[in-house]
Amino acid sequence: MQVLLSFDYELFFGTETGSVEQCMIRPTNLLLDLCRKYGIRMTFFVDVGYLIQLEAHAGRFPELTNDLNQVRQQISDMQALNCDVQLHIHPHWEKSAYDGQKWNIVTDGCYKLDDFSDAEIEQIVKRYAHYLQTLTNKPVTSFRAGGWCVQPFSRLAKVFAEIGIQCDSSVFPGGQFQSPHYDFDFTAVPRFSPAYRFEDDVCVPVPNGRFVELPIASWLYKPGFYWRLYVLGRLFPSRHKMMGDGTFLAQPGRKTSVLTQPVWNHVSSDGYYAGMLGKQAAFYNQRGVEHFVVIGHPKGLTIYALEQLERFVRTNQNKYSFPSFSELEWS
Ligand SMILES: [Zn+2]
Repeated sequence: MQVLLSFDYELFFGTETGSVEQCMIRPTNLLLDLCRKYGIRMTFFVDVGYLIQLEAHAGRFPELTNDLNQVRQQISDMQALNCDVQLHIHPHWEKSAYDGQKWNIVTDGCYKLDDFSDAEIEQIVKRYAHYLQTLTNKPVTSFRAGGWCVQPFSRLAKVFAEIGIQCDSSVFPGGQFQSPHYDFDFTAVPRFSPAYRFEDDVCVPVPNGRFVELPIASWLYKPGFYWRLYVLGRLFPSRHKMMGDGTFLAQPGRKTSVLTQPVWNHVSSDGYYAGMLGKQAAFYNQRGVEHFVVIGHPKGLTIYALEQLERFVRTNQNKYSFPSFSELEWS
């Protein structure tokens, strides 16, 4: 089995974005240390809208130049370790700006690509992909939607095909959430699904389709999992506190739902989730799944998660391979 450790490289989008240092630079350096130590590769889905805004504001606000330089340096460190740098789009950056003190994040009516017109979508996707391609000097071939909001894919298919994006990794089978910001429904995708080709709908396999969906592995988490997370966080805050220092965009109703009923959620290296990786990977491997995609966020890294992730890699390095997205062949 191939284990694809993927990370969405970004700030927070709630009232506090958090700092570049704590949300991105410090935790990512700890992840890159694992790549160095074990010779594994990771894939980083970079929130390009943020970089474009950093660059746009850096002239007027010199303090942002330092943030931009640190991020650029770290992306080059990722590449030096043969990690993959791919496209993550949070289009709300189009409406968000820096006021000299902090980023004012505007998400209402612009959180997902589907909130924009066809012409705007085309322009955003092309501009972001071009920026990343220029920065990395590599083709952009894989995509993960901000907040998993990749639907309806029919609105993205044409521009994706045009710029050479072949692979999407936004789907986690069984996942579903609707709110004023979020809108995704992956309940139609069979659980433990292998990668599949598709055309206009990310949930409907089409043989010889132009695109490949490489779903994020998912798992039915029982309420006890979230109760333990909640309790441990209070008992051992230093081990379970996220390194990122911002606040999440609200997901109304989500907390109550996970604490009261089993919910399909992603397999993740974030926080308390990382303790499940060994068991989950063994289960997928036993079912013959070829690609086990794990999602994480540097901002969501904890001391506990880092220990668990390292233990997972150390104990499985001879059993599984740990490639990046672009090492996979889709021909
Ligand atoms: Zn994101």
